[in-house]
Amino acid sequence: MDSFDLIVVGSGPGATFAAWGARGHRILMLDVGFDPPDVPVLSGNPCELRVGGADLFSSLIGGGFEGLHNVFHPPVNFKLKAPYLSYIAGDWTTLTPITGNFAGAISLARGGLANAWGAGVYRFTDRDLTGFPIAAADLRPYYDELTSHMGVSGVNDDLEPHFERDGALLPPLRLSELFEEMLRRYQRHKLQFQWEGVTLGRSRLAVLTKPHNGRSAYAYENLEFFKPHDPAIYNPAFTVDEMIRSGAIDYRSGHLVLRYRELPDGIEVCARNLSTGDTETFQGRALCLGAGALNSARIVLESHSDYTTELPLFDNPMSCIPLFRLQRIGRGLEPRDTSLASLNLVMDDPAWPAPLQASLYGSTGPLRSDILFTLPFPFRTSLAVTKYLAPAMGLLMLFYPGQPGSSVRLKPSGELDVVFAPEPACGVETRLIRIFRKIGYLTSEALIQRPAMGAGLHYAGTLGMRANPGPYETDRNGKLTGTGRVYVVDGGAIPALPAKNLTFTIMANALRIGRQLARELS
Ligand SMILES: Cc1cc2nc3c(=O)[nH]c(=O)nc-3n(C[C@H](O)[C@H](O)[C@H](O)COP(=O)(O)OP(=O)(O)OC[C@H]3O[C@@H](n4cnc5c(N)ncnc54)[C@H](O)[C@@H]3O)c2cc1C
Repeated sequence: MDSFDLIVVGSGPGATFAAWGARGHRILMLDVGFDPPDVPVLSGNPCELRVGGADLFSSLIGGGFEGLHNVFHPPVNFKLKAPYLSYIAGDWTTLTPITGNFAGAISLARGGLANAWGAGVYRFTDRDLTGFPIAAADLRPYYDELTSHMGVSGVNDDLEPHFERDGALLPPLRLSELFEEMLRRYQRHKLQFQWEGVTLGRSRLAVLTKPHNGRSAYAYENLEFFKPHDPAIYNPAFTVDEMIRSGAIDYRSGHLVLRYRELPDGIEVCARNLSTGDTETFQGRALCLGAGALNSARIVLESHSDYTTELPLFDNPMSCIPLFRLQRIGRGLEPRDTSLASLNLVMDDPAWPAPLQASLYGSTGPLRSDILFTLPFPFRTSLAVTKYLAPAMGLLMLFYPGQPGSSVRLKPSGELDVVFAPEPACGVETRLIRIFRKIGYLTSEALIQRPAMGAGLHYAGTLGMRANPGPYETDRNGKLTGTGRVYVVDGGAIPALPAKNLTFTIMANALRIGRQLARELS
């Protein structure tokens, strides 16, 4: 049997950067690793493609009408249902099933959930790291290294105190007219915003605005809801491929890791080969679990045959507020647009000990049917509304900090039982609506959508890092209590969830742990 220095489970943001940090040793990466379907590459923007007469049925709707999933079924994230993107959340319900009130998704794809992410990357400050056994200074060099590896676009603007200064940012994405005007109006009324504890600024995105490390710049195709692997939008699969090409890792997809066992001088990992159905074992000196917060918890509990312990789980409760600039109703659409976040907002609210954060998006990217049926109007009115309002409508996606009270438990059947605590009472939305009304953006509380719990897709905290870790917790270097060589490198290790998107921190923390491990293995 081959033996490795390090076995890494998964290829999502955490697993990828743990392996990247530990390069130089014999690394085996075991992954389910679904890839995008072998289909013609979509190229151009939706307007040009339609005018050019291209048949877009298979790429936008799909032979099984999967693009219309949300019209007939409980909604899933728009990106996870498009025909060419459905591989991202493919087969998780059968391979790693979940019961309970979980309205989210798991990814078994090469690159993990970050195949669908919006690439928003925000450094955690010391305030965000309350309850962590590490400080911002511990992560800073790794954030810097990731910025230069992935390429991050943005600006050091009013949000700098919340996002930290970054001297290596690429120029920001071009704003659409809607958001250019919103930013101008914010600048003009900045004092009012400051008085309300609200700050607006440009998004920081792992999206290239210049060619970088062999990848091309963003082409404003606005195909984020339909097209896999846009080279401009960073995906951990790119780094995995780079490590495979350079021989830094032995990558084996098609392997579902089931459990591990510690040996006197190493670790044995047991996985199901999905092509043959056989159970295979692999040996290494150390193990990094990067199967995502939920599946890493599943592997750990299964390894202990523990079907009673409840582990904590966090996700960000969300609400989605449409904002309308009435003067823009009926204007022509900008064909070269983006569905990536254009602006970010950070707000303090007396009801919340930590700030809340929002991303602002245009509404021209998704299928019209995705928005149509969420409006409280008769069908024909909604059809007209979506057509004429699109150039006038922005979507403010508000994230709340993750709340305690949710849990996961492994059942003897192998299903993971997820129980999300009830959503926190809101109220912040009313304030935001009032603030935006003052600068000319209108909406109604009746239009606010509150996605079900788990739909935030920011899973964390199942095996959290602590200064004094207890059972099923990890120390500041990610090592799982009671084990000699098992490390947690994904969202599971993030012990508390601020409203700020967490993936940049998952990556930086995994890189830190990978480097530390590389030294120990030497
Ligand atoms: C639509 C969408 C938008 C998002 N936008 C943002 C954003 O803008 N900013 C942000 O910070 N975050 C965003 N996120 C969240 C982000 O994608 C996740 O936080 C991140 O991917 C989690 O990384 P992870 O390493 O913990 O695990 P995952 O990404 O879940 O990766 C898990 C990996 O483990 C593998 N795996 C799982 N189980 C097994 C097993 N048993 N055996 C072998 N392999 C296994 C999978 O194949 C996968 O490679 C978004 C997510 C979605 C879906």
